[in-house]
Amino acid sequence: MEKFRPIKGTQSLFGEEAERFNHVVQTFDQVRRLYGFSRVEVPMFEATGVFARSMGETSDVVSKEMWSFESRSEGSVTLRPEFTAGISRAFISEGWQQHAPMKVATHGAAFRYERPQKGRYRQFHQLDAEVIGSDDPLVDVELLAFGSQLLSQLGIGGVTLKLNTLGDAESRDNWRAALVEHFASHRGDLSEDSQERLEKNPLRILDSKDPRDRPFADSAPTMELTAEAEDFFGKVKAGLDAAGVAYTLDPHLVRGLDYYRHTAFEFVTDQLGAQGTVLAGGRYDGLIEALGGPSTPAVGWAAGIERLAMLLDGDFTQQIDAAVLPMGDAARGLGIAVLTALRKAGLSGELFASGKMGKRMSRASNAGALAAVIIGDDEIEAGELQVKILETGEQKALAPAAAVETITELAVERQMRAVLGQDEEE
Ligand code: ATP
Ligand code: MG
Repeated sequence: MEKFRPIKGTQSLFGEEAERFNHVVQTFDQVRRLYGFSRVEVPMFEATGVFARSMGETSDVVSKEMWSFESRSEGSVTLRPEFTAGISRAFISEGWQQHAPMKVATHGAAFRYERPQKGRYRQFHQLDAEVIGSDDPLVDVELLAFGSQLLSQLGIGGVTLKLNTLGDAESRDNWRAALVEHFASHRGDLSEDSQERLEKNPLRILDSKDPRDRPFADSAPTMELTAEAEDFFGKVKAGLDAAGVAYTLDPHLVRGLDYYRHTAFEFVTDQLGAQGTVLAGGRYDGLIEALGGPSTPAVGWAAGIERLAMLLDGDFTQQIDAAVLPMGDAARGLGIAVLTALRKAGLSGELFASGKMGKRMSRASNAGALAAVIIGDDEIEAGELQVKILETGEQKALAPAAAVETITELAVERQMRAVLGQDEEE
């Protein structure tokens, strides 16, 4: 029989790896609530034009990386390579304009046809945050503070926020012309890709990873800002200072997508090589109009969940609070009742109902249990539970309420140790 393999560049996760992934998502959900972002859901696929139009035909994603196919009735459709385009399409077609300015967040799978390697997959997952309908530079600041707090709450250190402005339409057009002039004088020395980008999108040469392009990209002229663009950028920088978010100016930072204006940023770590960008975004005031909607300012960011998960410190193996070990048939029913009561009291637990006692104890300990609740005939009669604290080996007979109390204390202590341990490292 044919043996099925996973599609190249996809991952299946279990255990610690899956818990890490989930920890990133949970932390994102906590922090987005602190910043007052509402959750949204958008489709996993859209008409191909949604991405082609919004990301630009000449972008790497649209020209090389999309998973597109002909559908039976909808023409060409594409699996989402990112969230911004779909959220913007929904903003227009679902009447979300009435909620503007809209602060939204989501997470899920994204698809790009790339060469798979560490930190780069064909199905990967993003966290995404957008504010649609505000041209206030303080909104950019709030999004950056959100990203920064997310990273610090995940305990990810060694990250630099690189910040730039792409100016307004006027400063950007002038810069584009200066770049074309600069790169045209070195045309023959550029990579083939960049020679092609020269007319279509010279900004993207700055972003090139090809070593042949780097010297010319690094010596390229920087943008001259109009007074208005300068003012906007000044307000973003002052806001970041006020919010205590540190940044490094990087005049050559450009975003791979066509619709960016003003603020552009990347949080970069030195730990993942060429896959070092963990969270990136910027202002895209021209996008919603490009999709046929009303002129609408917007700003947002996306972060790669797998890359963040790789940077987490510590062990994320799931641990239970209590293991319930019934001895004998009569105790099994009571075991379930006790377990239900523990869970309702907010404690996690598992039933280890069969096998030798020693074996069950070691399974309990492998599952991270703090205590084993042992139930035998004597306990049933006395209305008590034997509670064995696994760390010390101490064992005592307790009334059910006292057992819950004891295990709760242990669970809180463990929680505190985890939290304080994280603080010490910072
Ligand atoms: P890169 O320069 O690494 O290709 P990008 O500019 O294409 O990144 P964005 O479109 O800004 O990436 O996507 C936002 C984030 O999503 C990235 O910073 C990264 O963390 C993550 N990401 C992008 N592509 C992939 C991928 N193929 N596999 C895993 N994560 C990815
Ligand atoms: Mg890419």
